[in-house]
Amino acid sequence: MQTVMQPGEVESPRGDIPFLFLPLRDDLFASRARRFRQLAENHALGGFLRLMGQLAESQQQVIDAFPAQPAPSPSYLEECARGGFPPLGVFGWQRDPTWRDGLRRLLESMVGKQLPKPAGVACARLERCGEDELERFATGLLSQDFAGVPPEAVPFVAGALQIYWTAMARTLTGRQLPRLEPANLCPVCGSPPVAAVVKSDGGQDGLRYLCCSLCSSQWHMVRAICSNCDASKGITYFGIDGQPGPVSAESCSQCHSYLKIIKLEESPGADPQADDLATLAIDLLLEREGCRRGGANLQFHPGSL
Ligand SMILES: [Zn+2]
Ligand SMILES: [Zn+2]
Repeated sequence: MQTVMQPGEVESPRGDIPFLFLPLRDDLFASRARRFRQLAENHALGGFLRLMGQLAESQQQVIDAFPAQPAPSPSYLEECARGGFPPLGVFGWQRDPTWRDGLRRLLESMVGKQLPKPAGVACARLERCGEDELERFATGLLSQDFAGVPPEAVPFVAGALQIYWTAMARTLTGRQLPRLEPANLCPVCGSPPVAAVVKSDGGQDGLRYLCCSLCSSQWHMVRAICSNCDASKGITYFGIDGQPGPVSAESCSQCHSYLKIIKLEESPGADPQADDLATLAIDLLLEREGCRRGGANLQFHPGSL
């Protein structure tokens, strides 16, 4: 199923559009866990989605008790703004070893939950890993290079990195951050988006925001423009026939990439991370059309299923 949208069709110019929303919701991961549980019902990948829900629940517990992180200094933030770098860039910013404590606590909180066997084995293996190995896994995931990371460990290592980067992003409250070049990367941490949402409340109805795959920040990008190459022609929307839902894929005939877009009006409780993993059928469809994914889901590796 596909429809074609013309530039400017859905978004009229308006005055004060907030550019960036930091991940300030206290219940960010708890609400993601709820969404995973909801999506797992009668789903072909129900077991995997339930596991991801348990993991999101644990992420909430860990971030609730996460030690306060020092904010980057004002002079460093100014330097980044001048140079066009994201202040918490996955490689520009030296991640603190606290992220590994978060991973340890994450693994501890998974104990006692009824996990599928491969996930239980992955947790036990990660508990035995040394610091260097965990840092190597983290560097691999943050570079979108999954080759050296055991597939079953991907959701957990990525989950711990999400906790650390979300906690760090929260230290930037009140800061103005510029749009990056390219504009489809997170202005906070430079990661690609997991998906986009079209908002339905808070004065931003109908506006598109890209959602960071790592720190869960959201940044504005006008609709009906390819988020990857800025093309405004040849944008096509794909969904799965017979599977109504808030998620479709916005694909571009210029650069042949696509990004999922989630209409919150149709499903206010939708979560970019959860709804992306519940719609892998859309990725298969787009791959068959010869398109490549424009964003990333850090917690997913086909071998993690
Ligand atoms: Zn980010
Ligand atoms: Zn494009």
